[in-house]
Amino acid sequence: MKILDGKIVAQAVKDELGSAIIKLKEKGLRIPHLAAILIGNNGASETYVANKIRSCEETGFKNTLIRLKEDVTEEVLTATIHDLNERNEIDGILVQLPLPSHISEDRIISVINPEKDIDGFHPLNAGRLMQGLPTFVPATPLGIMLLLEYYQIDTRGKHAVVIGRSNIVGRPMSVLLSQNIPAGNCTVTLCHSKTKNLAGICRQADIIVAALGKPGFLQADMVKENAVVLDVGITRVKDLQKKSGYAIKGDVDFDAVSPLCSYISPVPGGVGVMTIAALLKNTFTAYNTRMKNT
Ligand code: NAD
Repeated sequence: MKILDGKIVAQAVKDELGSAIIKLKEKGLRIPHLAAILIGNNGASETYVANKIRSCEETGFKNTLIRLKEDVTEEVLTATIHDLNERNEIDGILVQLPLPSHISEDRIISVINPEKDIDGFHPLNAGRLMQGLPTFVPATPLGIMLLLEYYQIDTRGKHAVVIGRSNIVGRPMSVLLSQNIPAGNCTVTLCHSKTKNLAGICRQADIIVAALGKPGFLQADMVKENAVVLDVGITRVKDLQKKSGYAIKGDVDFDAVSPLCSYISPVPGGVGVMTIAALLKNTFTAYNTRMKNT
């Protein structure tokens, strides 16, 4: 069994981006700039945004963090995004999800300028992904594709099972794995909460992407020998041994499943770190495209 080590691959991606940014600075050019909007005080969101900002700083990206109160109105949030859309020096905009329940996520995502939509959630970019056109690929599925490519996993003609059909992970993941691209060309089964005989379907899989948000869900009796397993899950589980009071758990029972696998991604240190590297890659792409068009 080999570990799909997100830390190594994410560092390689960030090193490449960092070198490109140093070259821009040497030439006296503008530096790519990511703006993040964080609403309220959700602990997990705070951590995700802090990690994204830290990665920007380590890699040399400019960054702006806008914090809004939990009770911010949809109008104020919309106006904040419009302002970032208009500002020429901002290349990428991300609005950390989930949003407070009084705000429509769909409406807010649609407000972001598709050219700055580095999360790839805007319907225009999601549609382009469906058609295999150049677009911003949502960061988590993009990170998984980069991980598969780095480890030269042979995906062609393989049966991939994706568990979870969200717009941010499962559904785009299923589309990418089915496309005629590096780390694609799989025959894909997309499973969800209404899927019957999920264990039987998983047992037929050469590649499993577990993205449902249920800690330890994927058990050894659901995985065939030599399968490649990618664990997307991030759930905070109470753990009084830890200083923080919680541990981060993935959707895979790692101890039971890993001996069966040819490759497996751990949690933490797998898909999560790749997501941030992929987000920076998207920001750099947004910058390049905007520089070419101006
Ligand atoms: P979501 O709640 O939007 O979607 C969960 C999906 O799982 C749904 O489509 C649902 O149909 C499916 N599901 C739920 N229970 C199921 C069951 N028993 N059997 C089969 N399918 C079931 O979640 P999401 O936003 O896609 O996130 C999924 C997990 O991935 C969460 O733990 C989240 O924290 C994590 N996540 C991690 C990263 C990362 O960077 N590693 C990024 C995004 C999300």
